[in-house]
Amino acid sequence: MNMPTAPAAPTTPGDPTGPSGQPETQDPPALANDLLTSARALGAARLNTGTAGNVSARLGAGMLITPSGLPPDQCRSEDMVTVDADGRAHGPLAPSSEWRFHRDLYAARPEAGAIVHTHAPFATALACQRREIPPFHYMIARFGGDTVRCARYATFGTQALSDHVVAAISERNACLIANHGMVVFGRDLPHALALAIEFEALCEQYWRTLQLGPPVLLSAEEMREVVARFSWYGKPQETER
Ligand SMILES: [Zn+2]
Repeated sequence: MNMPTAPAAPTTPGDPTGPSGQPETQDPPALANDLLTSARALGAARLNTGTAGNVSARLGAGMLITPSGLPPDQCRSEDMVTVDADGRAHGPLAPSSEWRFHRDLYAARPEAGAIVHTHAPFATALACQRREIPPFHYMIARFGGDTVRCARYATFGTQALSDHVVAAISERNACLIANHGMVVFGRDLPHALALAIEFEALCEQYWRTLQLGPPVLLSAEEMREVVARFSWYGKPQETER
């Protein structure tokens, strides 16, 4: 499978980057093309089917997001929708129904440059159990803490759901969404996509572990050490594994 990979190097002095690490001046057509490529890659990686899920990238004070109700395979890059910070959408199509939690995550988390939301099978199975994922594996730390929380249930597309997602992902960069799916953010599209794929793999590993019985969990001290190594925001990046 030919997937985009996360860039390894942090920004260097002199780079025209803003507080989020994103370029201050982005080329919207190029970003729309990258967004569509990322949305299609989620399908190829079996993280999404049909019109489920969505992807966005920060663009200036707002964002560019996949449209509502149109599968990525049938989209053109011109169909990507610009949404301002106040929620006003521009374009021929409506934005994904979950634009609110994308907007609110960009506002709450300046380090977020791109967001992936999917109904990936293993993450969604755990979300339907409303389970928090415990430190059964050190790679949990990749997502910012010693657990990955599950956001409380609310109807899709509502402000209540957005509020629950922003709360559950606090100090993390992934969460499950009760009876719904998962959301992951990264510093840019390749990073968010790579994290989404890793997160679904971790959910599958947890699901398989549960078949054998309760896992032996890592201690708080063991997880603190791994979390410190995996921190990616504002610091040089540690190579994983
Ligand atoms: Zn959804």
